[in-house]
Amino acid sequence: MSEITKQPHEKQILGHPSGLFYLFFAELWERFSFYGMRALLTLYMIDVIFAALAERDYATAAVYASYGSLVYASTVVGGKVSDQILGMRNSIFLGGILMAVGHFVLAIENNMAFFLALSLIIVGNGFFKPNISTFVGTLYEKGDPRKDSGFTIFYMGINIGGWIAPLLCGWLAAKYGWHYGFGLAGIGMLTGLIVFWSGIKKNVFGDRGLPPNEEVMHKKILGIKQGTLIPIIAVIAAPLIALLLSSYKAIATDGMFADQNIVNVLFTGIGVVVLAYLAYEMYRATLDERKKLFVAVLITFFMTIFWGFHELSGSVITLFAARNVDLDGIMTAAQTNSLNSMFIILLAIPISMMWTWLSKKKSNPRTPYKFGLGLLFAGISFYVLAISGASASANGLVPFAYLLLMYFLLSVGELFMSPVGLSKMTDLAPVRLMAFVMGVWFLSSAFAFQIVGFIGKQLAIESTDGNVGGLDTLTTYTDGFHLIAMYSIGAGVIVLLFSPLIKKLMGNVH
Ligand code: GLN
Repeated sequence: MSEITKQPHEKQILGHPSGLFYLFFAELWERFSFYGMRALLTLYMIDVIFAALAERDYATAAVYASYGSLVYASTVVGGKVSDQILGMRNSIFLGGILMAVGHFVLAIENNMAFFLALSLIIVGNGFFKPNISTFVGTLYEKGDPRKDSGFTIFYMGINIGGWIAPLLCGWLAAKYGWHYGFGLAGIGMLTGLIVFWSGIKKNVFGDRGLPPNEEVMHKKILGIKQGTLIPIIAVIAAPLIALLLSSYKAIATDGMFADQNIVNVLFTGIGVVVLAYLAYEMYRATLDERKKLFVAVLITFFMTIFWGFHELSGSVITLFAARNVDLDGIMTAAQTNSLNSMFIILLAIPISMMWTWLSKKKSNPRTPYKFGLGLLFAGISFYVLAISGASASANGLVPFAYLLLMYFLLSVGELFMSPVGLSKMTDLAPVRLMAFVMGVWFLSSAFAFQIVGFIGKQLAIESTDGNVGGLDTLTTYTDGFHLIAMYSIGAGVIVLLFSPLIKKLMGNVH
């Protein structure tokens, strides 16, 4: 057994620093609020916010995409501000409070309050999510063999939150009203903050997560200390983001920006700048760095496609479940959002054991093969939904088993890609570009939501009374799922075909 360096006074639980379990429960409750609310979001927009519009599906898809893109893009800003000024603890508190307020504002039934609430969650998540993940890493010394299993435990926390929240918030929303569902999400977030705070009180984090230096916090800009200025800017940013979110209508009907809104154009711009900067860095790099950087770009690209299909679960797939899946006596459409996390909990340990077992036999597949297979699994999962129409009842409802099988396959795909991709990015990026490459990795989830929005708009169903479903909508969805399946399977096959080449470019990185 390898020697493990413990900080002398640090309490251990199950062989891990006790701080891990405070972060585990804090993140569990934060994800509880995030996914509890996400399960209700699309249905709430369709049934309440945009109920009066014939094109309510289109508007919902556009806002959902903008929300998702901004929620992940804000983590790049939140990570940077924390590194340079606030430190992880302050950032987590600031983010958590903003998110909790956001969830409670959602309980007000008013369009402007709705957009403001989403914006508070966007800004709050930007401060909370990247910092709590980085915090986990700081609990272990460099090279500590427990780090990977620490992250696996943490990932379980994420998914326990993602599993129970849609079940509870979905139940409350259906039985007592939307606002009880959103309210419970807010209570979840507060619980997360209390857990984090109690960890600090019990001193389980030592001196980790404090601001990088107190001087920076006290440095004044416009006569206000930076440590005070940042929360003020964060609060002011929320109504501005709300304006962006509420401009969900297309800015042109034809030409280059046809069907695009301001947020879409903003992300096109960010994409161009990021790619141009990457091209410049690749031009400057040595040949070996250039090859690895190229693989890092490929990994991010394929991860974006994967999340682009995967994140449909909160939008198009929720609508499909509501309109065309026979859920009678099983669960509500919002509750189906729990299935992905349920399968992740069941499969994470067996799959990581499989990699260890294959490693021992020296046949653990290299990263590109895992990515190719992940995309294949995602494609097959959508194919299952595509063919479900053949078993539809006369009123256009398909058996629940199809949805269940789909989530099972999609979760296998996720476990082949997501945990593997993140650690490879850190191995492939040259040290001087590490922070930038990590930012690009977070942006891959942000760009994925642009794909989600595009697909959502294609599969939007217009109706004058909101009474949609049955055979009318079934083929729209199954045809759409068929196309997604073909794209994903196609991408998977291309990755597998090129894997021997990608493997060479990766050099010594497994
Ligand atoms: N389900 C994971 C989480 O919530 C990853 C989601 C993503 O990056 N798109 O942390």
